[in-house]
Amino acid sequence: MKKSGVCIEITTLSIPKISDSKETFTKIAKFIKNELGSETPWHISRFSGEISWKLQNLPETSVETIRLAYEIGKKIGLKYVYTGNVPGLPSEDTFCPNCNALTIDRTGYLVKRLDKNGKCQKCNADLNIII
Ligand SMILES: [Zn+2]
Repeated sequence: MKKSGVCIEITTLSIPKISDSKETFTKIAKFIKNELGSETPWHISRFSGEISWKLQNLPETSVETIRLAYEIGKKIGLKYVYTGNVPGLPSEDTFCPNCNALTIDRTGYLVKRLDKNGKCQKCNADLNIII
């Protein structure tokens, strides 16, 4: 898909005991950087047993685990890491990798774009997003 020019975003649903380890997050982040490029968005989503079809016995993913995944993605060098299903975390938003300006403001399913035609509204860096 990447080689044919399709815009790709990777989403990881972090499920307790299944996909919540430092090693798993590190492997995924390295794969994204090395195989798809550091500009590929990585969306880390919090699991909830309450809305799960089959895994209702599992607790929801801790906020600390979601923060850990976010930090690993940023440390490895991914430019667009953001979290989901944790309302109120600043990491729900997207920031310009050049000047750190808020470029996409998310609150749950509400999305407010602040970019200017795919470029940072503050420093004009290309944000690699579809306009
Ligand atoms: Zn910027």
